[in-house]
Amino acid sequence: MKTTTHWTGTLALLASLMAAPLSADEHTHAAGHEQHGAHEHGVATLSLATGEAGLEIMLESPAANLLGFEHTATSAADKQKLADVKLKLEAGADLFAINAEAGCALKDAEIVSALLEDEGQPSNDTHAEAETHNDMDVTWAFVCTQPAELKEVTVKLFSAFPDGVQTIRAEWVTDKGASAQELTQDDTLQLN
Ligand SMILES: [Zn+2]
Repeated sequence: MKTTTHWTGTLALLASLMAAPLSADEHTHAAGHEQHGAHEHGVATLSLATGEAGLEIMLESPAANLLGFEHTATSAADKQKLADVKLKLEAGADLFAINAEAGCALKDAEIVSALLEDEGQPSNDTHAEAETHNDMDVTWAFVCTQPAELKEVTVKLFSAFPDGVQTIRAEWVTDKGASAQELTQDDTLQLN
């Protein structure tokens, strides 16, 4: 049901993501809004890759999906919301359930967003204010005692962010191959 061309594209994308982690200036691409096709409110991209150590999951999402806004947080309410969302995203074990046989545990969560970088700084943010769009990208690293047993990952981002996330384009690469699936609700990805 999937073409070879698609596999190649997926692998190339994942390879590039692995080689160069999602950069902090991702939002500059969003200025054109259609430049890389990723910044569409309600839509997020999820990339999963298994390896010898375990599983890496990368989310690329418009900040609006997670935060409800994309402007620099200046009000106390917005700053609180930003802090809440950051904590929620860092709790990766609550957002993804991995089949128990793999023995996985969250090792690290990294959030990259211009909105977080601007936090706490004086409002000299010339571009963040001028641009209407900002992404929030997250990378979770799970270490697994039995990575060969990695079979299922349940994505719980819809229930975690019910007001913003509508569609997740998930794709994954394992040593057995690659595939993709579009989600519109919490669901379990079958990795092989
Ligand atoms: Zn936007």
